[in-house]
Amino acid sequence: MNAMVTHAPPRPPIDCRDAVRQLWDYLDGELDADRYADIAAHVEQCRSCGEHYAFARPFLAALGAPPASSPGAMRAPSTPSDATSQELRARVIAALQRDGFPTPPD
Ligand SMILES: [Zn+2]
Repeated sequence: MNAMVTHAPPRPPIDCRDAVRQLWDYLDGELDADRYADIAAHVEQCRSCGEHYAFARPFLAALGAPPASSPGAMRAPSTPSDATSQELRARVIAALQRDGFPTPPD
């Protein structure tokens, strides 16, 4: 019996452009966990993106994490409100553009 050595083919690596583009998708809530993992892996290896994403991580975390509520506040939903998402997205875009990233496709 011929044992075939199979290994899961790695997903095609994404380049810096893909990483940036998919950040917008992520902010739009159109990115699934697998793709986000690809970005995370790229950022881990890419010094340039790592520096850029370093500031974005708190934003990304804020988008995915329940907001820190003040004492006595009503229980907040696990997903941020549309208004919160829009404001966060605007702030991330502004910060990215200051950092030299291209304007996201609209
Ligand atoms: Zn990169």
